[in-house]
Amino acid sequence: MISIKHLSKTFHNPDGSIVTVLKDVNCDIDKGEVISIIGPSGTGKSTLLRALNMLEPPTSGQILVDGEDITAKGYRLDVLRRRMGMVFQSFNLFEHMTVIENIIYAPIRLLGLSEADARAEAMTLLRKVGMSQKADVYPSSLSGGQKQRVAIARSLAMHPEVILFDEPTSALDPTMVGEVLSVIRQLASEGLTMLIVTHEMRFARDVSTRIFFMYDGIIYEDGSPGQIFEHPVHSVTKSFVNRIQKLVFEISDDEFDLLEMHSEMNRFCIKYNIAEKAAEAIPVADDMIQNHMASFRPLTFRLTYTELTGETALDFMVEGLTESPFAGGNVPIAVSARTKDIIQEPTARGFRIKILL
Ligand code: ADP
Ligand code: MG
Repeated sequence: MISIKHLSKTFHNPDGSIVTVLKDVNCDIDKGEVISIIGPSGTGKSTLLRALNMLEPPTSGQILVDGEDITAKGYRLDVLRRRMGMVFQSFNLFEHMTVIENIIYAPIRLLGLSEADARAEAMTLLRKVGMSQKADVYPSSLSGGQKQRVAIARSLAMHPEVILFDEPTSALDPTMVGEVLSVIRQLASEGLTMLIVTHEMRFARDVSTRIFFMYDGIIYEDGSPGQIFEHPVHSVTKSFVNRIQKLVFEISDDEFDLLEMHSEMNRFCIKYNIAEKAAEAIPVADDMIQNHMASFRPLTFRLTYTELTGETALDFMVEGLTESPFAGGNVPIAVSARTKDIIQEPTARGFRIKILL
């Protein structure tokens, strides 16, 4: 359906510098595929999506859609944009129009639908994304998650053959990520062709038929979710997909602000969708800091989360320590009873207790 051949994009900045963001992108995408595009920021993921619908015309190369080169002179961009919908991080709703007016605007003007037909279909789409009750309100009264669901319905109203999503959940409050992902998940199950730039690794693994890992201006690795996440070929892919999120505290004395630490731990757990872990992690952290490791200062405490495996751990590290801080190396029952596993190990610079929740 879509074939990208030797696509490149170079930007000439006003200060005279030149940056080649896409070097040589090649791929073929079939109808019905759900492709998640992952990779570090600044590697050209957004630029690739924007090139695909010619918001950012490529410097060289070809993009064939059903065999037609959309980069060719004279190719009609209005036709292209009808065929390829785009959903942005920042929603881009028309703020002066109600929800339903946002949805019917383009179908009436560009598809020639009657207002009655457009409204009827808009209501069907709003029901699909769970927003039919809000048809007549203005976007300003909606939450970010609701706005994004409306933006998805608006895109669907044009009956696109492909929808491009550019980090559709990145601007959302963490509590609203799930509602948007579940709408996208439903569209995937219905066979809509989609390209999704996302940082949500588990979502990407679950929903996609294929993953593109972008790095260094190319599709560095392309494969099934199983290949990319479990058996990546390249080491950069491997370290990217297995990356660990960390929250670090340096506890140097007893003036340390535990309550602030609790808030930050809560925020971290909500952000990574492990809100339930906060209630387990906080009492263990307090107990370790205030009781079992009270005499070890400075103490470095880290809360870590490996998104792909879901592993959540508490690390306590003391520099210069060579053996277990626990008497006889025995983990206090109060701690072990509340945790899955505990690893005690010397590190290059000291000693670490790693508690798995
Ligand atoms: P990603 O979406 O992977 O984070 P982008 O495609 O947004 O990456 O950007 C890749 C690089 O291209 C960045 O270094 C960015 O600064 C640069 N870039 C993107 N758009 C422009 C532009 N319009 N002009 C100049 N540089 C740009
Ligand atoms: Mg981007």
